[in-house]
Amino acid sequence: MNMFVPVIGLEVHLQSKTESKMFCPCPADYFGKEPNTQTCPTCLGLPGALPSINAKAIDHCIKLALALHCKINKETKFDRKNYFYPDLPKGYQISQYDQPIGYEGFVEIDIDGDSRRIRVTRVHQEEDTGKSIHEADHTLLDFNKSGVPLIEVVSEPDFETVEEVIEYSKELRRIVRYLGISNADMEKGQMRFELNISLKEAGSKGLPDYKVEVKNIGSISVLEKVINFEIERQTVLLKKGKKPVQETRGLKDMSGETVSQRFKEGSSDYRYFPEPDLPPIEIDDGWIERISEEIPELPGDKRKRFEKQYGIERDVIRTITVSRARADWFEKAVKGESKEVAIEVGNWFIGDFMKLLNNSKLKTQSSKLKPKYLVELTELHKSGKISGTVAKQVLEESFKTGKSPKEIVVEKGLEQVSDTGELEKVVQKVLKANPEVVAEIKAGKEPAVQFLVGQVMRETRGKANPKVAEKVIRNELKLKS
Ligand SMILES: [Zn+2]
Repeated sequence: MNMFVPVIGLEVHLQSKTESKMFCPCPADYFGKEPNTQTCPTCLGLPGALPSINAKAIDHCIKLALALHCKINKETKFDRKNYFYPDLPKGYQISQYDQPIGYEGFVEIDIDGDSRRIRVTRVHQEEDTGKSIHEADHTLLDFNKSGVPLIEVVSEPDFETVEEVIEYSKELRRIVRYLGISNADMEKGQMRFELNISLKEAGSKGLPDYKVEVKNIGSISVLEKVINFEIERQTVLLKKGKKPVQETRGLKDMSGETVSQRFKEGSSDYRYFPEPDLPPIEIDDGWIERISEEIPELPGDKRKRFEKQYGIERDVIRTITVSRARADWFEKAVKGESKEVAIEVGNWFIGDFMKLLNNSKLKTQSSKLKPKYLVELTELHKSGKISGTVAKQVLEESFKTGKSPKEIVVEKGLEQVSDTGELEKVVQKVLKANPEVVAEIKAGKEPAVQFLVGQVMRETRGKANPKVAEKVIRNELKLKS
């Protein structure tokens, strides 16, 4: 039986975070607003209304193109992409055809520690359309979204597995967030996907002679389901000796199942031609340089540096570098510290600290816990001043109050008790309260000593040094230590 492997390309649409829309002064922050209140003659497509270019949006598009290692078209322009749809009142969308702002770039992704390059064909600027709201027996139109700046990132069909597509999408989301050019909030429709997928026989060269496109995918989890559905659907057809039809498919629902919509149109069907109402744009070296200087360290580079500089495990780094704010916070904590401390701080960060943040729905930067407090906590714990149990309590208290761990330990008298004399009293009390356990131990069931250590820890509310406690217990019961 033949084995088939997928060949996948992805188009990602990202709403750019600008004050105003792409070609008019209407506010771009339309989400949740009363329908058709954020509009003007231009974004409603009224005859005679003239567009003008939002320079900030062009900056954002150049920034993303540079971050994706693209070449920049120094001469660029807008084109009309003609098609009819009720939420596109002009009858065309202003987009870019043969001179996209960026071209021939790549995104580097890591899959289980192996890095792979996914080629980026182009990064171009366009405008979003309005929104059709389908109700039982009629459709409503809301034009608030019409004309919001949209960046499209088109990849080459380089993906061979669903994992690669998911990781690429997440990396792209991290990149635009690091750049501050889009929130890429999928629940608000700020990041959307179009997929093209076909299958070829494993080991065969070249691309398959058909392509299935799936439009309007609104989240990474649905994207994953769609890919799995299409691989399955196309495999069944190919195994029967049938070639899947070249077509555009849509989502049936959120399950990932797709349904045939129409046969694929080629770019000739859109009758692209240069937008006569907008001048071409010249992107000179000065402009490119200015934008390059605004690009921060990107997530991929940050991950590599954190691994090298702090010796932290890859999975921990991925959690810490998910956002720039979080990575900056962490770096404020561990800057100048040893790798050993950084690793410990990393573990506290992704464990207890993240749990506290998630429970209180807070972001790292809005937490009362100062970055250096995690270092303090690590040191108190490592030096044996406080036990692990107490360290967790101290972290919680520091998170709640903003007080430093040292302060909390002193204030509440939480220092670990390693003093044998002090622990002897507690041990005697515990032994007296548990005569049956003592009898079991004396009868040879030595592992029960750990139960008594636990009781001592409870009695001291976690303050006892468990190793010393065990020693004292063994001493009292005259066991070998
Ligand atoms: Zn407008």
